[in-house]
Amino acid sequence: MCGIIGITSNKEVTTRIINSLKKLEYRGYDSAGLATLKDGFINEVKCEGRVEALEKNISKTNVQGEIGIGHVRWATHGKPSTINAHPHSSETVSVVHNGIIENSTILKKILEKKGYKFKSQTDTEVIAHLVTDYLKKNNLKNTIIKVLNKLHGSFALGIIFKDYPNLIVGARRGSPLAVGYGPNENYLGSDSYALKSMTNKVSYLNDGEFCLIKENQVEFFDTKGNKANKKILNLSQDNQNYDKGDYKHFMAKEIDEQPTTIKNCVNEYIDKISKQINIYNLPWKTKEISSIVLIGCGTAYHSCLIAKYWFEEHTNLDVTVDIASEFRYRKLKFKNDCLYVFVSQSGETADTYAALDICKKNKMKTCSIVNVVESSIARDSELVLPIHCGPEIGVASTKAFLGQMLVLYMLCLKLSFDMKIINKKNYQEKIKNLLSLSNLCKKTLLTDSKIQKTSRTFIEAKGSMFLGRGYSFPIALEGALKLKELAYVHAEGYPAGEMKHGPLALIEEGMPVVVIAPRDDYYKKTISNMQEVIARGAKVLLITNKSKDEIHSENIWETIEVENLSEDLFPFLTTIPLQKLAYYSAMHKGYDIDKPRNLAKSVTVE
Ligand code: GLU
Repeated sequence: MCGIIGITSNKEVTTRIINSLKKLEYRGYDSAGLATLKDGFINEVKCEGRVEALEKNISKTNVQGEIGIGHVRWATHGKPSTINAHPHSSETVSVVHNGIIENSTILKKILEKKGYKFKSQTDTEVIAHLVTDYLKKNNLKNTIIKVLNKLHGSFALGIIFKDYPNLIVGARRGSPLAVGYGPNENYLGSDSYALKSMTNKVSYLNDGEFCLIKENQVEFFDTKGNKANKKILNLSQDNQNYDKGDYKHFMAKEIDEQPTTIKNCVNEYIDKISKQINIYNLPWKTKEISSIVLIGCGTAYHSCLIAKYWFEEHTNLDVTVDIASEFRYRKLKFKNDCLYVFVSQSGETADTYAALDICKKNKMKTCSIVNVVESSIARDSELVLPIHCGPEIGVASTKAFLGQMLVLYMLCLKLSFDMKIINKKNYQEKIKNLLSLSNLCKKTLLTDSKIQKTSRTFIEAKGSMFLGRGYSFPIALEGALKLKELAYVHAEGYPAGEMKHGPLALIEEGMPVVVIAPRDDYYKKTISNMQEVIARGAKVLLITNKSKDEIHSENIWETIEVENLSEDLFPFLTTIPLQKLAYYSAMHKGYDIDKPRNLAKSVTVE
C-alpha cells in the first residue's frame, strides 16, 4: 500500500512533504520517512509509527531542502521499524517505493557479491543499489530503463539523486502514481489527494511509464524510453469534508453520515421528476449482456455477494461473484456478452485493478463502482458509477459499503427495467422504497445503547459467530469482518444453514453469536438455526426488524430491531448495528479505531 510524495522546487519542501504524508497516511501507517537533497548531500529522517512522530523528529534534526521525497509505509518485507522505513538510500540515490519487488532476494545476492551493503530487510533497498550500480556505466535515462527491466513485481517509485540536484524520477508498474504541476515546482504523489493542497493540475502515469520531474519541466517515457505525451487534467475544486468535527473517530462520524450519503447517492441516480433510475450513459445495449461478474475485495466483495441475490431475483442474468485476488490468476473463459463490474472504495485496490486490466486486455465490457472518481479503476473502466459518499477516512469501511450496495441495487433495477423483466409498477414501488431508505437508516442509528452494552461480551469471548441466510448471509460476513479488523476478536461469518455441517462444534456455553434474521423468506429457517445454537449454550444477539409478530424462540440474550422496509433492502439496515458492535468493541479495548493494526485504507499491494 504506502503513500509516496515528492516535491522539486526552488523553495523549502520539508513541511509540505510532512503535510502531504499526513494526507497519505490512510495508505499505510506503520512507519514514515523523508529524504531531502541539500548541498550535494542526501539527508534522511525516518521513524517507526505515525507521521506525527516523524514531524517531531524533523523538528529536532532540522532537515531541509528544496527537493525531497517522503513515504508512509505498510510493510510487506521486513517488520515495521525505523531501519525498514523508507526512503532507502545508497551512496548516490534515495528511493521510496509502493509495492513488492518479487525478485529482490536474487537481486540482493548479486548486489552483495558486488560489494553493496544492505541495511534493511526490505525488498525496496535493492532498487537503490541497483540504480547506483547501473549509473556507473549508463546515463540516467538508460539506467532507469535497465533498472525497471530488472525488477519483477509491482511498484510505484520516487527516486532522488545526489548528482542530479533538482530531479525526481517517478516510475510505475501496477501501483498508481500521479504528477502535479505547480509554479516553479512540480510534484510526484501516490494520488491527486496528496497533491490537492498544492495544485489542481495533474497527469497520471500509465502502467510501465516513468517520468523525469524537475522544478520547471516534466518529461514522460514509455517502457522503452520513447517520449510519451500526457494530458494535463484539471482537478475539480475540493469542497470535501476531511474533518472529524465533534466526533471522537472518523468511523463514528461516517456511520452517522449514512442517512445523508444514502440520500445524496439516491438523488444523484434517481431523476426527481420522472422518478426513473438515471444511468443514461450505459455504453452497451442491454440485449448485449446475458451474464454479469461482480468483483471486489473485503467489504466491497461482500457488497457484490449481496448484489448476487438482487441480480438473480430481478434480472435473467447469470451472476457470478469473485474475489479479485482469485479472479486475476484463474484460467478464465471470457464471454463477449458478459459485463464485468469492479467494486472498490478507493478505486486503487491493486487486485481489483489487475482484474479490470485483464478484462480490458480481453476487450470485455467493464463498469466500476468507486468512491474516488479520479482513481485508476475509474479512469480505466468504460462505465463509472460513483457512490457519492464523500471521503471515507476510517480504515474499516462503513458508509462506502452502503454506497456500494446502493449503486449495485440501482444498476440491477435499471438493467431489469431496460430488459423488461421488472414491471413498471414494481419498478416504481422499488424506487419509492429507495427514496425512504435514508430516513429508515436514520432511525436505525438510534439502536445505540443496547449495542454498547452487548459489545463487552464480544471482547471477553474467545471467539464469536455471525449467522444469516439469503441477503443476511453476506451481512453476517461483513459483521464478522468488522469485528475482526477493529476489535481483533476472532469472528466467523457463516450461512446459518451450514452450521450443522461443522462449525456447530465450536459453540460452547456463553459464546456470543449474532443472528441476522429480518422477517424475510428465510426468517423461519434462520430462527430454527438460532434455536440450535441457543440449545448448545450460545448467547444470541438477534438482529431482526420491528414487527407485531412475536419471535417464536426462548432464551434470546438480546434483540435489536431495525425499521421495517421491503425485504430486499434489509441489508442496508441490518448492517448498521453490526458496524456499531465492532466500533464499541474496539473502543472498550482502547484500540485505534480509525487505523487498526496491520491494515491500510487503500490496498495497493497484492
Ligand atoms: N515492499 C515495500 C516494503 O515492505 C513497500 C511496501 C509498501 O508499499 O508500503 O517496505
